[in-house]
Amino acid sequence: MIRLPYTCLFCKRPGTIDFDETLRLNPVVEKILMGFKDHIACDHCAKYYRTTRDMTNALYSLATKWLQMQRDGADLPETRNQFRKKATRLIGRLDEAVMNFRRVGPAMTPQMVETLADNPCKCSELIRAILTA
Ligand SMILES: [Zn+2]
Repeated sequence: MIRLPYTCLFCKRPGTIDFDETLRLNPVVEKILMGFKDHIACDHCAKYYRTTRDMTNALYSLATKWLQMQRDGADLPETRNQFRKKATRLIGRLDEAVMNFRRVGPAMTPQMVETLADNPCKCSELIRAILTA
């Protein structure tokens, strides 16, 4: 077993990664592993950045589709409720990731979903408000 010490790219905490001994037999593989040593994130940071990226992309996608539906005249009570449910779920997951990572209180308010439903173009402001809470 090869134990590779590293420093997390984001939080700078030390950690180690274990590799199979057979990788050492290949100098190219070992060189690649050493090259990635400075770009490794710990599980805690990797989970946070992956979740925020995924939820941010999903929110932008949802807001874009909702904006298109509004322009097509499909802003009906039923479709608006579906949008609210999806937006609440995505904003909640983003907010939860930020709370767990930064140990802060919830930033999400019911007003955020209504603001997004009324004006999907405010998606960036909403995401920024949660990420910087
Ligand atoms: Zn980290």
